[in-house]
Amino acid sequence: SPSQGYYTRRGGVGESGDFITSPEISQVFGELIGIWYISEWMAMGKPNTFQLVELGPGRGTLMEDILRVFKQLASVLSKCDVSVHLVEVSPKLSEIQAVMLTGRKVQPNPEDESAYMKGISKAGIPIFWYRDVQDVPPGYSFYLAHEFFDALPIHKFQRTERGWREVLVDIDPEVPDQLRFVLSPSRTPATQNFIQPEETRDHVEVCPEAGVIVQRLASRIEKDGGAALVADYGHDGTKTDTFRGFRNHKLHDVLSAPGTADLTADVDFSYLRKMAEGKTATLGPIKQREFLKNMGIDLRLQVLLQNSGDTATREQLLHSYDMLMNPEKMGDCFNFFALLPHQRLVHPDKKDKPASKSPLPPVAGFNELLLK
Ligand code: SAH
Repeated sequence: SPSQGYYTRRGGVGESGDFITSPEISQVFGELIGIWYISEWMAMGKPNTFQLVELGPGRGTLMEDILRVFKQLASVLSKCDVSVHLVEVSPKLSEIQAVMLTGRKVQPNPEDESAYMKGISKAGIPIFWYRDVQDVPPGYSFYLAHEFFDALPIHKFQRTERGWREVLVDIDPEVPDQLRFVLSPSRTPATQNFIQPEETRDHVEVCPEAGVIVQRLASRIEKDGGAALVADYGHDGTKTDTFRGFRNHKLHDVLSAPGTADLTADVDFSYLRKMAEGKTATLGPIKQREFLKNMGIDLRLQVLLQNSGDTATREQLLHSYDMLMNPEKMGDCFNFFALLPHQRLVHPDKKDKPASKSPLPPVAGFNELLLK
């Protein structure tokens, strides 16, 4: 809801909010993602300009960590014109992002411009804010969506003896102000459109908005070049009932006090892959602990430990490493998934002249990072 929805009213990411995310746990997370973009930019022949587009940037911490890496590698990026584009619906969070990334050097844009706000990062990179990814200007772009797709609304379906029925929200006739789940008495347009014919599960959650956004990203990458990195908790088309609410870091009944809790459903990566419609290649999902290991998190941790003098900082580093990597914590349930132009993985003329070209460098994260 644009007026009463959780992200427009509350949007509590971070320790003092309703849920905590990887970039809020450790700076290493964002740094490794920054290196992923540099590594892909190099593998794609160092184009002289790119847009970094983040969907749902939360408090802006992840982007801050990525931009710090870009600054440290300024000599590598020196001939590249970089701009940052943030897709954010929450007025409150866009304010927090502006403070974090620009130190509040922002100005609202006139209504007729596609960006609603613009500013300059501390290192001089232009930053623009939009409400919809469609408003981001076309061009060579790297996209990032971390814990974004899980926040978008889903449809829920239940297989019954009479066929698929949609799970709907109704007002409980017995209890005032209480919502309840009901099954649609007959098929709804959504049951007809969103259930895949080959579906074997008995309960399915579908996020058509995620599908539409992935279609757009895939079309843009096919046309203008770039890549998309999606990280979220999710599964590859196997899980069923994952819709949950979180408030003050505790599970919260999704039907009680709507608009006051973070509502989330695991991302179905098999659905996202289908929605890319072959316009791009896809990689993953791969578990967060494997992705971060491939990106060199162990080496990074060692360097930070060596450079930190006090015990408290070292303990904090080890604790946050464990949060990100432990399979029982975030290591296994979070996944990384990428959209890449086909030519990034296969030479277009490979079939004709297989020996004529040098091999394409492997995609970092999904393979070990090769630092040259
Ligand atoms: N990526 C951040 C925050 C994740 S929370 C992190 O990992 O810490 C989800 C983010 O998506 C918030 O910034 C929220 O305001 C934003 N968001 C939710 N629905 C959105 C929508 N429909 N369009 C754009 N942004 C949205």
